[in-house]
Amino acid sequence: MQSISFVQKKGEINNMKFNSVLDNLKIYEAGKPIELVVREYGIDAKDIIKLASNENPRGCSPRVVEVLRDEAQKANLYPDDSMYELKEGLAKRFEVKSENIIVGAGSDQIISFALQAKANENTSILMAKTTFAMYEIYGRQTGTKILKTKSHMHNLDELLEMYKNNSDISVLFLCLPNNPLGECLDTKDVYNFLEKIDKNTLVVVDGAYQEYAKVKDKNKKIDVQDLIERFSNVLYLGTFSKAYGLGGMRCGYGVANSEIIKVLHKLRSPFNITTLSLRAAIEALKDEKFVQTCVKENFSEMLRYEEFALQNGFDFIASYTNFITLKYDGSEKSSDIAQKLLKKGIIVRDLGAYGMNAIRVTIGTPTQNNRFFQVYKSL
Ligand SMILES: *Cc1c(COP(=O)(O)O)cnc(C)c1O
Repeated sequence: MQSISFVQKKGEINNMKFNSVLDNLKIYEAGKPIELVVREYGIDAKDIIKLASNENPRGCSPRVVEVLRDEAQKANLYPDDSMYELKEGLAKRFEVKSENIIVGAGSDQIISFALQAKANENTSILMAKTTFAMYEIYGRQTGTKILKTKSHMHNLDELLEMYKNNSDISVLFLCLPNNPLGECLDTKDVYNFLEKIDKNTLVVVDGAYQEYAKVKDKNKKIDVQDLIERFSNVLYLGTFSKAYGLGGMRCGYGVANSEIIKVLHKLRSPFNITTLSLRAAIEALKDEKFVQTCVKENFSEMLRYEEFALQNGFDFIASYTNFITLKYDGSEKSSDIAQKLLKKGIIVRDLGAYGMNAIRVTIGTPTQNNRFFQVYKSL
């Protein structure tokens, strides 16, 4: 027998082949962290404002901070993998049962479960052209075909037309309200649409910003219990990362028919969120007042951005979230504006990569917004 040597020379280049679905997969570009701007631009951390990832600028409920101090004593123990208390809290909130709920490391993780459960190289998934980037990224990992509408924003007629013309759609995404544009469909129109969708298609209704939308306009409010009872093929997603101010804790959830939840649980690894995230989420749910205060301030501050846009001759998209998308005509380039702001310590999101001449700005605290307007005028 001929012997083959696998001895590697030091420094040799690795020619390993990976699954081909990963070849052209782009890595999600997260909002720049403050630490990076300190390192790259030499700006003092206290002079940097991050308005790029839709985090709650007021932090989280003080009750959460309080309980976490004690909970840290239990860092040696794995968390309660049944997540009993959190699921009970969520079940009460939405008037559903614990068996209708799955908890994930951010609702991000539930998006990946949904796609792993339904999508593969023989199916397609459907979404609006400009929507949450992770739908496509997790989708590509499964080898599924990605279909997007021509319209940047959610257009139900177009979505329905594409749905009817493609018999292989396994998962359909509705982001209500939509990130990164901020628009939101009326719930009654969504219901009419859902009635036309086959029960074998999983419809993901991403409610990451529902806490905001339902306060601004009750026509956008989604009654989660009603939604999943009427539509056995809908998976509703919520997160603690936005209005609850717990982005750093990585906790989100899915609510659906118990049969869907059972299958998604097959994809969940044990202890997928930490002891601290679990406690933080449980406590955050109890402080609804904190959320209401934040949401109210969010929309009064958003008005200032709308006025600022009008006064300075650029457009914006009416938003039902905690961010606003500012649109430019040809004379200004969004990437230039984002870069100039960054050099002055303000991190925003350029939407150039989405084929839009626009930036997305998370609504900050009144002080942070004052600084944004002041710096912007000096660009
Ligand atoms: C932020 C966000 C999520 C999920 O955030 P997690 O931190 O993973 O819970 C999901 N969908 C949309 C549209 C978002 O903006």
